Amino acid sequence: MINNEKTTASKVFPKKAMTSFDYDLFVIGAGSGGLAAAKRAAAYGAKVAIAEGDLVGGTCVIRGCVPKKLMVYASHFSHFPQEAAGYGWTMPAGTFDWIKLRDAIQTEVFRLNQFHIGLLKKSNVELISGFAKFIDAHTVAVGDRQFTAERILISVGGEASKPNSSGMEHTVTSKEMFLLPQFPKRFAVIGGGYIGVEFAGIMRGMGSEVTQIIRDRAILRGFDEDVRINVQEGMVNHGINFQTCIDSSTLIITKSDHGLVINFNDASGKSQTVNVDVVLAATGRKPNLAPLSLEQAKIEVVNNAIAVKDDSSTNQPHIYAIGDCTDRVNLTPVAIAEGRAFADTVYGHTPRSISYTSIPSAVFSQPEAATVGLSEEQARKLYGDHVKVYQSKFRPMFYSLAGGHAKTMMKLIVVGKEERVLGVHMVGKDAAEIIQGMALVVTMGGYKKDLDNTMAMHPTAAEEFVTMR
Ligand code: NDP
Repeated sequence: MINNEKTTASKVFPKKAMTSFDYDLFVIGAGSGGLAAAKRAAAYGAKVAIAEGDLVGGTCVIRGCVPKKLMVYASHFSHFPQEAAGYGWTMPAGTFDWIKLRDAIQTEVFRLNQFHIGLLKKSNVELISGFAKFIDAHTVAVGDRQFTAERILISVGGEASKPNSSGMEHTVTSKEMFLLPQFPKRFAVIGGGYIGVEFAGIMRGMGSEVTQIIRDRAILRGFDEDVRINVQEGMVNHGINFQTCIDSSTLIITKSDHGLVINFNDASGKSQTVNVDVVLAATGRKPNLAPLSLEQAKIEVVNNAIAVKDDSSTNQPHIYAIGDCTDRVNLTPVAIAEGRAFADTVYGHTPRSISYTSIPSAVFSQPEAATVGLSEEQARKLYGDHVKVYQSKFRPMFYSLAGGHAKTMMKLIVVGKEERVLGVHMVGKDAAEIIQGMALVVTMGGYKKDLDNTMAMHPTAAEEFVTMR
């Protein structure tokens, strides 16, 4: 688990006899990136404080990746009785208790919050509770207290962004999804990105009737076309209803005595209505900059994100920003890597920046998808006919007795005679676990022959990647 990594940093930051600042480093925001940077800078000998206005842990730990993955696990259990029957087990269909799950997840979230507070203490990082805002380029205020620092790191993350459509105030965001007072029998999600497809699968697995409303013809815009198609097919097989190619300018949500009513025009201009209990707006996220008073420190903002150079410094050379508030690649491991690179560069005297190519990513949809490197479309744009695609689609062994329609799709994109691997994509069971390993091949600039020379492990799904013809 990335957040538990022990640092190997040793104390190399030169301590001055006297400093005119309260801290060497003041970090604003105790999410994944801020925590990683603060702990590593302190390990180098810097005097560090970190301000957080909510629970320590940030979006990923408190209201994102972690509780989401627990909900994905919870939603899988609904298939068990049917799948187990094929293996000779007779299991009664279970009942699902939303309140029990919701509260168990919140207990785990609170435990992780305490765990991260403990790590800060152990690392000699001072935790200051409250939202921080700039007073000037070296001073921040938290409540009625003011602190000065030689350097300041902004790692405040992002927040959900809703469109201006009428009735959006009736929708919830991913943040509220973890705290719903009641489990919705009928659920709709607007948006076909990571958050939309993940919650559609979760809610369907737990028993909701789910409608996903998207303005493109398929979910996951920007992913490899075969990934998009295979995930969407799998979701349809799980019983999710799709409304595609909607005209989002006609979207209106109103409240009725029986819940919420979503109206919009479909691709042919025909008016459509969907009646639900809860609507999730999963229409993107934006940097969470409003509370910071960035103008007090004259920090440059471009397209609503903090403008940074390769080393994460802003236009103020002693102020840095990492993670989603810079809107580079908005993924937890990237924020952590940016935070550690900052601390190594500034306090560890080992200047480095991180590479944004070949970042693997997973979508915990049902079926799961994971990907690293170029999509076929991107590869063909760059290399034209020199691109070759190896692809395989099969029913995983587990389902030979369990039944159902689940399929696994695997795809390798290679270039040139020597067949350098440009991209690896998978849809199906354990895709994220498998692609994490395959990311090594792309990152190292490996070749198809390296995969061919790798002995297969049988019987696994992953062996397909080293036996493709
Ligand atoms: P995304 O940017 O991934 O997707 C937004 C979706 O909303 C798109 O389908 C987009 O449609 C649609 N949309 C935008 N505006 C409108 C509108 N006015 N009407 C209808 N649809 C609209 O955002 P998410 O909120 O899903 O996720 C935010 C970020 O969180 C991601 O970028 C990702 O970095 C991170 N994340 C990562 C996860 C992971 O790694 N597993 C999990 C969850 C979040 P269109 O495609 O047509 O533009």
